[in-house]
Amino acid sequence: MVHDTARLLGLDGLMVERVELDADGVPLVDVSTGDEQARCCTRCGQRATRVKQWTTTRLRDLPVGGRPVRLRWRKRRWYCLTVRCPRKSFTEQVVQVPARSRLTCRLREAAGTAVADAGRTIVRAARDHGISWPIVAAAFTAHATAVLPDEPDPVEVLGIDEVRRGKARWSYDEPAASWTTTADRWHVGFVDLSGGQGLLAQVEGRTRDARSSRPERAAGRECSRSVRPRARPGWRGRSRGAARTGTRVGRSPARSAPARSTRG
Ligand SMILES: [Zn+2]
Repeated sequence: MVHDTARLLGLDGLMVERVELDADGVPLVDVSTGDEQARCCTRCGQRATRVKQWTTTRLRDLPVGGRPVRLRWRKRRWYCLTVRCPRKSFTEQVVQVPARSRLTCRLREAAGTAVADAGRTIVRAARDHGISWPIVAAAFTAHATAVLPDEPDPVEVLGIDEVRRGKARWSYDEPAASWTTTADRWHVGFVDLSGGQGLLAQVEGRTRDARSSRPERAAGRECSRSVRPRARPGWRGRSRGAARTGTRVGRSPARSAPARSTRG
């Protein structure tokens, strides 16, 4: 029964001890460590023999049978007895649950995939998976980093767009007696208009730092003078003019991303 339940749960390295329902009818699953590798020191690899203490970690995981479940993992903290090992003690971990994590890896991956491949917003994915916005954003970043190339392919027509998002924040620099922007409400997006690469990047701010962002520099380096910058449809008149003159795309020379850097 225990082995069948563990197989149903499908978390390698964890054994199901028992399942009960809480007051809301949510299954509460008690699991234990079933992987001998978990008691090997994470630094030197030596197999530990002396327990320091027992701890219990509550984990979030994917639904099972369409119902959310809560995991309760009672695990050991071991002493590492290797004399020269700097890690004096360590807590058991398994592949699906790294040290200090309160979520299974497959839950993070599912949330990241929902945003990257299923078109969900981060807010929606966070709500669907019962986790927070920052965790889903980090999961999406990890997913995208794994599947996207380091640099985009050459771009023929680069779209540059400004998006207003959230509220601006500033901090006051006492020695300089001036305010510094810590969160810019303007973001600049770079889009491959003629190819199939979609959104290449979105960077915070529309200042000099934003216009020197990596995608634009990469496109300029790869395509040299073949890159034709365009702004979003609402700015079509300006962008045509900017492309013709080869000077700038956007509203204000001081506040927008320039075309000059995309033209080699
Ligand atoms: Zn060790």
